[in-house]
Amino acid sequence: MSDERRIWLARPQAGDEELAEVRAVLESGILTQGPKVAELERMVADLVGVPHAFATTSATTALHLSLVAAGIGPGDEVLVPDFTFPATANVVVQQGAVPVLVDVELEAFALDLEDLERRVTPRSRAVMPVHPFGLPAGMAPLMAAAERHGLAVIEDAACALGATDGGRQTGSFGLAGCFSFHPRKSITTGEGGMITTSDDELAGRIGLLRSHGGVREAGRFRFEAAGFNYRMSDILAAVGVAQLRHLDAFLAARRRVAGWYDERLAGWPALRTPITPAGRTHTYQSYVVLLDEAIDRDAVIRALAADGIETTIGTYALHAEPFFARTYGHRPGDRPRSWRAYRSGLALPLHAGVGEDDVDLVVGRLRTAVG
Ligand SMILES: *Cc1c(COP(=O)(O)O)cnc(C)c1O
Repeated sequence: MSDERRIWLARPQAGDEELAEVRAVLESGILTQGPKVAELERMVADLVGVPHAFATTSATTALHLSLVAAGIGPGDEVLVPDFTFPATANVVVQQGAVPVLVDVELEAFALDLEDLERRVTPRSRAVMPVHPFGLPAGMAPLMAAAERHGLAVIEDAACALGATDGGRQTGSFGLAGCFSFHPRKSITTGEGGMITTSDDELAGRIGLLRSHGGVREAGRFRFEAAGFNYRMSDILAAVGVAQLRHLDAFLAARRRVAGWYDERLAGWPALRTPITPAGRTHTYQSYVVLLDEAIDRDAVIRALAADGIETTIGTYALHAEPFFARTYGHRPGDRPRSWRAYRSGLALPLHAGVGEDDVDLVVGRLRTAVG
């Protein structure tokens, strides 16, 4: 298959504007965290509608830093949806706490609140709702449940920069919200992340811990905590600033492609298309369909790949991954809906470069592949 006929799963858009921003930073001589990081943080805080934003090296470090700043440690349990990228749960393990894996619902792939109720214990300290593939988890009932059980909410909003629920941006609901700037997310800096919060005390701890635990004083540092270096470079922040100016256009392009898939796939008995419940907006970080149980999803991925069409799984069922299965005694299928979503989820090519003719091609090949 020649390169020009390939339809990629994801392709970030970046060009002259990003290059000009990066050039200005390189010429400024300030390459570590500096004025560009501050500019990107202000832009994200304004977008999300919170007073504080902290750029980090990734969403993973953003999540970890949020847990540390929230005081999560050994003996604590943190409720995490089972159907997610492992980073959500890994950071809990890194804090010496236990990730309690909660099953999801199959409509929107979000954390299932009934299963959450069953898994809350006196040791539960926090819950980390994921906004799956950029669709906000229904936040009103989740916040109510968290409040009832005294749980801190750390939003894994890695996929959801620009998504709203009831008119509010994701990342503004919890004690903290964590975004990713990986190339498959709403905007990219190559690698990068951001924490948003409205909590002044948490913000103070995040600022301290992000940079070695040092407080600048009289030309040097006073080290108040055993902190990290999770700072973003101004070189990458420059890319982010240029990217963020185009967020609305990027999301509009993604929603347009999703609309083409919706139209063409509607009513197929072989699969279910993504939903957007009333009152929410979707970033379509991924367009994930749920295939009928009888269909061999991996065979579909291989068949499409042979036609030059790149697709992939939705995401992982953590309980069935070796580390979590071994460490916490889970068996594949213990979280039945997550297990089903893991085996039958299929992410179709979606990025600004996917045209309506590409969607026709993908859908045509998909029809053949699912039989
Ligand atoms: C991408 C992703 C992450 C990790 O983001 P990085 O910036 O690559 O660390 C975490 N959680 C979810 C749900 C993601 O999709």
